[in-house]
Amino acid sequence: MRSMPLALSALSAGVLALAAGPALAGTGQQSPIDIPTADVPVDASLPALEIDYPEATTVTVEYIRKDADDPEGCTTRDPEETIEAHVPHGAASVTVGGKEFELQQLHFHTPSEHLVDGDATPVEQHLVHQAADGELLVLGVRIEQGAPSEVDTVLADPPAECGPDSERAGVDLRALLPEDLSSYRYTGSLTTSPFTGGVNWAVFAETVTASPGAIGDLDAVFPEHNARDVQPLTGPIALRPQS
Ligand SMILES: [Zn+2]
Repeated sequence: MRSMPLALSALSAGVLALAAGPALAGTGQQSPIDIPTADVPVDASLPALEIDYPEATTVTVEYIRKDADDPEGCTTRDPEETIEAHVPHGAASVTVGGKEFELQQLHFHTPSEHLVDGDATPVEQHLVHQAADGELLVLGVRIEQGAPSEVDTVLADPPAECGPDSERAGVDLRALLPEDLSSYRYTGSLTTSPFTGGVNWAVFAETVTASPGAIGDLDAVFPEHNARDVQPLTGPIALRPQS
């Protein structure tokens, strides 16, 4: 995920109750990871993701440059840049274990940052949520090529680097997530500089599809990709089944 200017409360990490100790910024488990499904325990006692997303909202899609003042201009295509959709303040949230995380933005990586048993998908969507105390929760959605979906509404025809922002109306945010909310839970990090730790991750087991056209549009913007390599898995991880 993209870094955000915030003071992450490291000691508040662990809301997903993975029995990990407090993660200090810049130390501990880094993200993304390759999820070894055969070795991941199922833990139905972990708190559910209570999704409170509106059926229709307007998002603003923009090309996020790593350094807006970069003297090399608008063709740098830095791997830490992305296409990002900003969600109106207060429009959507997820509650986990009684703690509310507000949806700030969602953005895309090509190919997927998280692997499952060594396999990538063409795209991964990160929905970045922040609690009032600064703690982060990121939902990771791996996207496969297939039937058009709500992802197309956000992803297709993205703005060019230094191009104008683009508004997308009537976006069904819940439809950006898989129907089955079973997810791999672990405490990791930002996947871009400064790679801050203590980030609550939920990577869905089920994938979502997007059309070849929408995926091709993202590839055209980032021909050299914008995904961080997987990091060694050193901390606990568990699969929280939907029910
Ligand atoms: Zn990301």
